[in-house]
Amino acid sequence: MTTLDDLPIRDDLRGKTAYGAPQLDVPVQLNTNENPYPPSPGLVDDLARAVRHGAATLNRYPDRDALDLRKDLADYLGHGLTAGQLWAANGSNEIIQQILQAFGGSGRSAMGFEPSYSMHPIITGVTGTRWIDGAREEDFAIDEARAVALIEEHRPDVVFLTSPNNPTGTALPLGVIERILAAAPGMVVVDEAYAEFARAGTPSALSLLPGNPRLIVTRTMSKAFAMAGTRLGYLAADPAVIDALLLVRLPYHLSTLTQAAARVALAHREELLGTVDALRAERDATVDWLRQRGLSVADSDANFVLFGKFPDRHAVWEDILDRGVLIRETGPAGWLRVSIGTGDEMAAFRAALEGVLG
Ligand code: PMP
Repeated sequence: MTTLDDLPIRDDLRGKTAYGAPQLDVPVQLNTNENPYPPSPGLVDDLARAVRHGAATLNRYPDRDALDLRKDLADYLGHGLTAGQLWAANGSNEIIQQILQAFGGSGRSAMGFEPSYSMHPIITGVTGTRWIDGAREEDFAIDEARAVALIEEHRPDVVFLTSPNNPTGTALPLGVIERILAAAPGMVVVDEAYAEFARAGTPSALSLLPGNPRLIVTRTMSKAFAMAGTRLGYLAADPAVIDALLLVRLPYHLSTLTQAAARVALAHREELLGTVDALRAERDATVDWLRQRGLSVADSDANFVLFGKFPDRHAVWEDILDRGVLIRETGPAGWLRVSIGTGDEMAAFRAALEGVLG
């Protein structure tokens, strides 16, 4: 039997294993930070109608520049943004890949502050870019002065800031982003995949876009928008940044059906984002409950909670799984992450953890 090792694969990929959270068929799935609420029957009908309409032209390529969708995304974000400042792709993972293809690559470097989203270093590596970990503080914050010193020392071509951060839930003050933007010689990417879950008073980096052509803010419809299956990520930046991404994107990367589904979801945003308040309340209740149980819990502005610390976190993860609840073994040693589900799902999680802890 031929194995991967027998193939003339790139040296830097040799020995690596594929990234991905386990996709297991268990009753309660709280491991990939999805929104637990499925689309309503009315939204499903509208999606089906849009797909039917799009299907009639599937012999033709889609709008290569996805202009209508980008206009809808600009309208959603506000901040005076226009379609020319928006770009969309198949999930924000593809957005991140395009950014690194355009601004990273051989002989270049990207810096992030771990623990953070693990795909940042992975896509960095896959694009032949060198990864530099700036590391977060004990409380998962980014120390401004230390970050600036590191950036001045390493002069990375791309800096990733994730706010709210995955897997810790930590939001970054705008002041820290501004200081890093002033110090960084290259592009600064603020990954705001979880922005809609942030509590009031946690402003988006979108407000920093005017006058900052090296700033990119990335978003996704996979989380608060409850459209993970659609695969639609996007970014807002200076129009010159979009010109750069046009050089690396594959022609017709965003299918007719994806564009149509995303536009229907945006038209239904009130309904879809209507679940955010309930998820925030469930998150805060989960944090309180875990703390009452005597556990360490990271403050969260997202739709998940990082808690610990367990001498053998894998055993705890497995024990919870045996009770029908799938959470995520991720983050620093000893910690586990639970995504926020429905009230019933969180009750099942609490019961499972209670059972494990005794
Ligand atoms: N950024 C962060 C911080 C994430 O946590 C995720 C998903 N886990 C993504 C980006 C990618 O999401 P998607 O490709 O579904 O848009």
